[in-house]
Amino acid sequence: MSRRPVAQINLAALGHNLQRVQQLAPASKVLAVLKANAYGHGLVKVAQALTAADAFAVARIDEALALRTAGIVKPIVLLEGFYEAAELPILLANNLQTVVHNELQLMALEQAELDGQLKVWLKIDTGMHRLGIAPEQFAEFYRRLWQCPAVQPGIRLMSHFCCADIPGSDKTEQQQALFQLLCSDKAEQQSLANSAAIISLPQSHADWVRPGLMLHGISPLPNQSGQQHQLQPVMRLSSRLIAMRQVQAGETVGYGGNWQAKVTTWIGVIAIGYGDGYPRHASNGTPVWLEGREVQLVGRVSMDMITVDLGECPTETIGAEAVLWGPELAIERVAQCADTIPYELLCNITPRVNYQYL
Ligand code: PLP
Repeated sequence: MSRRPVAQINLAALGHNLQRVQQLAPASKVLAVLKANAYGHGLVKVAQALTAADAFAVARIDEALALRTAGIVKPIVLLEGFYEAAELPILLANNLQTVVHNELQLMALEQAELDGQLKVWLKIDTGMHRLGIAPEQFAEFYRRLWQCPAVQPGIRLMSHFCCADIPGSDKTEQQQALFQLLCSDKAEQQSLANSAAIISLPQSHADWVRPGLMLHGISPLPNQSGQQHQLQPVMRLSSRLIAMRQVQAGETVGYGGNWQAKVTTWIGVIAIGYGDGYPRHASNGTPVWLEGREVQLVGRVSMDMITVDLGECPTETIGAEAVLWGPELAIERVAQCADTIPYELLCNITPRVNYQYL
């Protein structure tokens, strides 16, 4: 029996979640966001499974090239864009589309002498204040971009919400209104909505929606589960019970002795720790699914192990399967107990974990 933690990736669930996006945004094309190794699920496998997506988005050029090397032929958009003019021929040769969000990129495109034209997405900063052209510079920037010989006609227009996951946020309404004001006279295709907006802001769907998290079956809205939105979890992270010991009332468990038994208690040791990507800050009480029942994490998370409270009279034996998150246990709950977000839990999984694609 392998003691390596396993991340099972349910590719059928991925397909189901994409269909759900298409049901929610039937008039929009889907630009599936696969950055950071497809949110820790495996870039190429996920891309191969999402056959019904219209295009893929990644953050960086090496992610896009990995997709091309694996034979993925769908359109790919670089969300962070390019950094230097030398990358432009590589984008062209690999048929990569780029987001353009600053003056340096525009100047590089103005001066570029390419053997073809690039498809570009102009990003407008409507309020996130991260990447994007300031609204007051948009008209002039757009005009100059249009005139670049290296740029294909049909510039796409996009922006990104900062608070779409906060229901009823004024900020989201303001961003959407500003985007509409700037783009309403433009015939080009437009894109605003991430997962949270796909679910809660149908009026923002536009020509392209950009789901990331929800493709993996997870709710982008706080205090809600993916299941509530008819999504299916894609990842099931599991490991094994490798030791059991009894502690007496008053004894502590783990580094720092920050958990103390109130009564005589069996402790189970599970082979997963922060060296595998399990969150170091998961607090006492974080749920773990152990062969059909929920038990609670006790004591600090170590590099290779966690300890759970098995109660006074456990029925489990060494080798029992523990699920850290997946269909049996919503990752949203684990994230909450670790004071983080599901995005971070997924991205932090390390190469020690064995991936199995179902
Ligand atoms: N669009 C852009 C520009 C992004 O940076 C991201 C991810 O952060 C997404 C869409 C997808 O967001 P989500 O995973 O919340 O759907």
